[in-house]
Amino acid sequence: MRLLESTALQIQEKILSKEIRAKDVIKLFFERMKDIEPHVQAYITINEEDAIKKATEIDKKLERNEKLGLLAGIPIAIKDNICTKNLHTTCASKILKNFIPPYDAFAVKRLKEEDAIIVGKTNLDEFAMGSSTENSSFKITRNPWNYNYVPGGSSGGSTAAVAADLSFMALGSETGGSVRQPAALCGVVGVKPTYGRVSRYGLVAFGSSLDQIGTVTKDVRDAAVLLRVIAGHDLHDSTSAQVPVPDYSNGIDSGVDGLKIGIPKEYFAGGLNKDVDNAVKDALKIYKQLGAKIVDISLPHTEYAVAVYYIVANAEASSNLARYDGVRYGYRTDRASGIVDMYCRTRSEGFGNEVKRRIMLGNYALSSGYYDAYYLKASKVRSLIKKDFDIAFEKVDCIICPTSPVPAFKIGERANNPLEMYLSDIYTIPANLAGIPGISIPCGFSKEGLPIGMQILARHFEEKKLLQIAYTFERKTDFHLKKPALKASVV
Ligand code: GLN
Repeated sequence: MRLLESTALQIQEKILSKEIRAKDVIKLFFERMKDIEPHVQAYITINEEDAIKKATEIDKKLERNEKLGLLAGIPIAIKDNICTKNLHTTCASKILKNFIPPYDAFAVKRLKEEDAIIVGKTNLDEFAMGSSTENSSFKITRNPWNYNYVPGGSSGGSTAAVAADLSFMALGSETGGSVRQPAALCGVVGVKPTYGRVSRYGLVAFGSSLDQIGTVTKDVRDAAVLLRVIAGHDLHDSTSAQVPVPDYSNGIDSGVDGLKIGIPKEYFAGGLNKDVDNAVKDALKIYKQLGAKIVDISLPHTEYAVAVYYIVANAEASSNLARYDGVRYGYRTDRASGIVDMYCRTRSEGFGNEVKRRIMLGNYALSSGYYDAYYLKASKVRSLIKKDFDIAFEKVDCIICPTSPVPAFKIGERANNPLEMYLSDIYTIPANLAGIPGISIPCGFSKEGLPIGMQILARHFEEKKLLQIAYTFERKTDFHLKKPALKASVV
């Protein structure tokens, strides 16, 4: 296998056994970056100098036989809405273009404590609002499987980087599917942990009752290690849970014999692409052969999920984004004639169209006279969606369904049709509303040769079971080993 195609754990093994130095890996890595990144455009900021320094330190520690962390020597990318000390964090927005955080997010602090090497900050839809990474103010990231297609979003920079071997691992974030959906469209593994499993401290807020940092990796075993590192209680986030973090890798190969897998009929209805439908159904056959029982279930309130999400998420966003006023941080207009004019111009010039649309929708849903009709009603339906899952999980151990109703779509194809874009979140959003964990793993390819992802959902805090179920499939198949044909001189 080519070196940069290795998984994170494989490259780490080579570094720890001194087969190759961390510094040599990182140098090769940045050479490849120069080759491929201009086509993929996965990164907003590249952290080359610092990464080489860190790699050199790791080699020195190794020579001195010092104890190294769980992610020692592994190059990792961070979505650009997660704060990194002394490294730009822009949220792909003009309004934060020059923002350099004075602190690390909890998850980033954990990565550093475990000796990971941060190679850069990845592109996203502005403030994580979108499903295609086309809403970035800076660049459009391309799907490594076909540069004319979107990588999905909003963590499209992270998933494209991992798919193109421009990172071994990455952090992404989810509010309504932003890790799982682009993971599916790029053919990599994406985990959205239980709400509260990972601290949100340092994750720039979008919809605070939904936001969660997630993992993007080349395979399930890498996801198990990365999640273990970033999970856990943090005093800085009162919604982070005081639930012990297990070793997710331990017992990951226990199989699925006797497990009950629920198939929600609402997720295999109209609008589902035929290739996606077939790929997921083929995967279910494999699970059956491996001893799992397939059980038909119903999640009757699924049809309301998109509407509920776009009220709740936008309402919270309209409140969270009020802080970008040109006073405390970020962009400030230079043509204002008074304080109110300064606020207006700063926000008009600083935010992109999609963000403005969300702020307006959110403020509308919260405004007096409409609050009960929209926000309150949506909150009630949200409880019903959660209850659907509670009832389902009384009968089954996990739920399997497509991650996205369609494979990647062409750049520009949906850019002017926000409603169509919103509707494609139908399979990912319910898990965010219910707060349960989910994983997307590669399970096939469309006729056009684009990756297809399958989603597995489980009860709150059952990430261990999720990873075990995902790994059982991965071990039997080779979809995760397929690579896009990229022309590169450095592999
Ligand atoms: N696509 C969804 C949206 O546009 C989800 C975004 C996310 O999960 N951050 O809001």
